[in-house]
Amino acid sequence: MNPRNRTNFSGGPGVLPESVLQQVQQAIIEVPEVGLSILGISHRSEWFAAAVAELENNILKLLGLSENYHVLFLQGGATQQFSMVPMSLLHGKAHPAEYLHTGYWSGKSVADASRQGPIRVVWSGAESGFLRLPGDDELSFAPEAPYIHYVSNETVEGLQFQRVLGRDDVPRICDMSSDFLSKPCEAERFSLIYAHAQKNLGPSGVTVVLVRDELLAEVPDNLPGFLDYRSHAQAHSNFNTPPVFAIYVVLLVTRWLIGEIGGLANMARINRAKAELLYKLLDSSDGFYRGRAESRDRSTMNVAFNLRSPEMERRFLAEALAAGFSGLAGHRSVGGIRASIYNGLTLPAVEKLAGFMEDFRRS
Ligand SMILES: *Cc1c(COP(=O)(O)O)cnc(C)c1O
Repeated sequence: MNPRNRTNFSGGPGVLPESVLQQVQQAIIEVPEVGLSILGISHRSEWFAAAVAELENNILKLLGLSENYHVLFLQGGATQQFSMVPMSLLHGKAHPAEYLHTGYWSGKSVADASRQGPIRVVWSGAESGFLRLPGDDELSFAPEAPYIHYVSNETVEGLQFQRVLGRDDVPRICDMSSDFLSKPCEAERFSLIYAHAQKNLGPSGVTVVLVRDELLAEVPDNLPGFLDYRSHAQAHSNFNTPPVFAIYVVLLVTRWLIGEIGGLANMARINRAKAELLYKLLDSSDGFYRGRAESRDRSTMNVAFNLRSPEMERRFLAEALAAGFSGLAGHRSVGGIRASIYNGLTLPAVEKLAGFMEDFRRS
């Protein structure tokens, strides 16, 4: 198989829509309205300020949010947010912030937060191998907590919350890196949402942070300028040289979501159809393919499963790659197989993978 025709099922950086890639290709040579390459346009130009303003608006519009949120485009990935959140909101607090430990990525957020101040792990799936998420009857949240933090979609394990957690009188903070803008998310119920671009929104290099205005009042004054959300809010993400290229690609993706897909409800329908196709195939394979997560908590973004043995999985991955399906190996921490089916991956591409999986099972 010609490697040029591979389909990207990688956990991240993920696949982007074909029409976006074509515009990016053109923009590398010349952004039509500017007459310059996107790689060499000044971040202080009027054009870039307008691009940032349009992107801020597109994100607010897609999520149905009003203007009491700041939309920031930061660097350092989601990992930087693991510490920037507690640096901003936990320092000097008497009561612990509440964290859910539901998988690999939330584990990283717990480790970084506990270096900054007191935290309480409300629920952990560590002992049961992160095969499921907690039900409401297993959770109780304290009203005096400075905030509650969780990960909406555990990318490695393929676990996704299908509801909003926490309580309305405590600020909710969520790492939505792997399902942001994949469906409506009741964003107005969150005080801070962060999501890096490279799973669902664009290339690596930029992280979207949505933060309620009131929350910024709590940020201590002694943080380095770059680590203070207020610096970026005041400067409309132009505090220092921002990742102009990555921000531009995310702008193109939001235009695609609004113009071609028709909003997040439509995007959610497409994503559900893709996920249902694969989960049905797993469930009707007589145990040949075994879904990792409990059915109730299955992710629509990352379909994680195992075959009967590691040898079979190796053969599966080799034959899949030869057939043009790239990035299907599970995360190095858990192994197995993971089909990541982010926004940019089409239903026909998932149908092709399903066809391959049926053939492989019968071979
Ligand atoms: C991939 C991922 C991360 C890591 O993000 P970086 O941008 O590499 O720091 C964090 N959280 C979640 C949910 C992820 O899927």
